[in-house]
Amino acid sequence: MPVLTAADPEIAGAIRQEEVRQHDGLELIASENYTSQSVLEAVGSVLTNKYAEGYPGRRYYGGCEHVDTIESIARTRACTLFGAQYANVQPHAGSQANMAVFMGFLKPGDTFLAMDLAHGGHLTHGMGLNFSGILYNAVHYGVRESDHRIDFDQVARLAKEHKPKLIIAGASAYPREIDHGKFAEIAKSVGALFMVDMAHYSGLVAAGLHNSPVPHADFVTSTSHKTLRGPRSGFILCKEEHGKTIDKTVFPGLQGGPLEHVVAGKAVCFREAAQPAFKQYIEQVIKNARTLAETLVAGGVRLASGGTDNHLMLCDVTSVGLTGKIAEHALDVAGVTANKNMIPYDTRKPLDPSGIRLGTPALTTRGMKEAEMQQVGQWILQIFKHPEDATTLGKIRQEICEFCKNYPVPGIAL
Ligand code: PLP
Repeated sequence: MPVLTAADPEIAGAIRQEEVRQHDGLELIASENYTSQSVLEAVGSVLTNKYAEGYPGRRYYGGCEHVDTIESIARTRACTLFGAQYANVQPHAGSQANMAVFMGFLKPGDTFLAMDLAHGGHLTHGMGLNFSGILYNAVHYGVRESDHRIDFDQVARLAKEHKPKLIIAGASAYPREIDHGKFAEIAKSVGALFMVDMAHYSGLVAAGLHNSPVPHADFVTSTSHKTLRGPRSGFILCKEEHGKTIDKTVFPGLQGGPLEHVVAGKAVCFREAAQPAFKQYIEQVIKNARTLAETLVAGGVRLASGGTDNHLMLCDVTSVGLTGKIAEHALDVAGVTANKNMIPYDTRKPLDPSGIRLGTPALTTRGMKEAEMQQVGQWILQIFKHPEDATTLGKIRQEICEFCKNYPVPGIAL
């Protein structure tokens, strides 16, 4: 960044520090990843200069011929990758994608049924301080206390009782495969629309390693930056019949000009996710999660639902005498980035819950495999044993920093 460094050393310096942080530590936040150099170049391109309100061929600004090409390619690639009839690639983020479905198909006060935040759902699935909980009547299902799996009896019962206009499947902290077919059956039985928010596992769906929501759902929303490994953004897939309403709701309903540099990044990411190498990557993400989970369980850490089928796991750190807040801090000091998280039936509060959420998408992008996951698991167990021992944490941080030198991060040359 020679130009930025000369022009604005303060910002360039902070970016450089962030590069060092991303490179020298173990990134285990389940919703993060390292996007490719190609995506970084698209997102950092001159497309950021362009206004393009509207859609390809129907813009409110001149000079859109090239962004039209890019956005049309992005839409086609999204449809092809996921086998969808219609795609809107303009939502700035996952939350905007969800908002578009609410705004397009629900009226304020309407009832919808979604997963409880405390059981793994997302803020936009009806949390009280979020638009979804403020404007609409949210009813929540959860997981069973016995095995932490989605309680489909409860979903069916609540659907019958509340007659929601919309049922939402998908979660931010659910370590198991979601049966979209079962949800679709329940939605159909009560005449509800069905939306799947596959933000977390869209990479697994793209690789064919998680059952696809597309044949079952009226709308599928997603982010592009988690397991899908694209730029920070969102998109919507839907049945052809809903396409016009979705388009109108995203623009002019919710947003102004689309971020065409990010749309280009999404187009690149959809192409990458269609390659055989991406399937191998996701296979490794899942194997790595399983290995990390087994290592932690062998070391005495209790996991919600006992393990994982996907890219993430939820550790109940009270099983090793910690709280989520203490564990997150100790991990951070030792160079491991993760986030504290509520676990199902948590008796603690969101700011200091019982859990830590861990995911393997980012470390797998760096080329780590099962052997490395065992090593990472051992470090985590040591950190959990000595959460306040600055010497031990400092020593682990050094070891991790050395270890990370063997695993490159796309776009970062130290
Ligand atoms: N949906 C789910 C299930 C998520 O986990 C997230 C992000 O964590 C979102 C939506 C929102 O995405 P964004 O942060 O891009 O608004």
